[in-house]
Amino acid sequence: MGFILAIVLTFLGPSNSSSVYVCTGPNAYSYHCNRNCRGLNNCSAEVKIVSLEKAKAMKRKPCGICYRR
Ligand SMILES: [Zn+2]
Repeated sequence: MGFILAIVLTFLGPSNSSSVYVCTGPNAYSYHCNRNCRGLNNCSAEVKIVSLEKAKAMKRKPCGICYRR
């Protein structure tokens, strides 16, 4: 049983812990992995931390600045 629980926790862990930053302003359309991102500096409203799932549900796209590799 412990073995199965460990697999489930490993599977759920990363997705549960992935939080992103979104600007709540009317012109915001991205989510960010970095609070200090240049895109968030332009935010005219409040910056909120939400889960990645929530950000996607809000139709946000990954920011082109802080998600660039
Ligand atoms: Zn960004």
